[in-house]
Amino acid sequence: MKRALIFGISGQDGAYLAQLLLEKGYEVHGTSRDADLQSFARLDTLGVRDRVTAHSVSLRDFRELLQIVTAVRPDEIYNLAGQSSVGLSFSQPIETMESIAQAELLLLEVIRYLKLPTRLYQAGSSECFGEQPHGTAADETTPFNPRSPYATAKAAAYWTTVNYREAYGLFACSGILFNHESPLRSERYVTKKIVAAASAIARGERTQISLGNTAVARDWGYSAEYVEAMWRMLQCEEADDFVIATGEAHTIADFAAAAFAHFGLDAAQYIDVDQSLFRPSDISWSCGNPAKAERVLGWKAKTKFEELVRILCEAEK
Ligand code: NDP
Repeated sequence: MKRALIFGISGQDGAYLAQLLLEKGYEVHGTSRDADLQSFARLDTLGVRDRVTAHSVSLRDFRELLQIVTAVRPDEIYNLAGQSSVGLSFSQPIETMESIAQAELLLLEVIRYLKLPTRLYQAGSSECFGEQPHGTAADETTPFNPRSPYATAKAAAYWTTVNYREAYGLFACSGILFNHESPLRSERYVTKKIVAAASAIARGERTQISLGNTAVARDWGYSAEYVEAMWRMLQCEEADDFVIATGEAHTIADFAAAAFAHFGLDAAQYIDVDQSLFRPSDISWSCGNPAKAERVLGWKAKTKFEELVRILCEAEK
């Protein structure tokens, strides 16, 4: 039986990944900064809370990381933990950098120090690409041009992972994932915020929603499918990095229109564009080219925009 250790198992991706690995017969361990206080509600929602072993671990603490990796001896580590909000990263740049880039470095050091054959997945982000020329989807050869503290931290984690692979032969790789959503997203994220508001307005409980720049476009996929790509990366003969995306971009305004329409509403009547919600620097268009993932991993996004909106709205009803 293979053993996996998921850092950040309480999050959206952590929950879906735990479910997937359990289905594949893995023994699954996962970490939270405080496993006693963490509710693990997403694991409960997926019905897998009782089948994973949760540990309290600080990704800042080298000794604690050494202890957990030594105790679990995982075949695979998935590092999904860290401050994951682009918006919040502007007000918490140091927390963001340390919880993402320093934490990945510590994990790599632990694996190197213990001389383990453990395979490591790093949760990379499309935010690293920054502003892309409209119409040109980013692939694994596209240069990074980060435009937020979150993106600079993810870029540092990505390059550190590449470096440890090349310098020390570690099986360590990054998935450069474009946005992926699910009913397990928190309301801090715009898709969930829109769907929750549309549902509440349809029930007569709210009258409007405040949004930032609705003209920005994103490549949105479905989290439950993206975790399969993470797993496939660690089953390859050689470690490598992959862009994971749907290959389609839609604006936030498009998303809002589709979500409100699902509840029989016209989004334009309810959206208040609030300048204070605009980011200090943003990415106007973001889209990924997942051709390498399809070719090498045999992975392709099945859930595209309309179906994703439907899944999110149905879950909110
Ligand atoms: P979530 O925010 O849902 O989960 C991340 C987990 O990390 C949380 O459950 C939390 O666990 C832990 N965490 C949160 N803040 C901190 C912090 N400051 N320091 C240490 N740990 C923290 O993220 P997702 O599941 O959506 O994403 C998983 C990973 O993939 C993240 O690294 C994210 O940045 C990255 N990613 C996500 C994308 C997306 O669209 N979802 C796109 C590209 C990359 P606890 O509170 O239990 O400690």
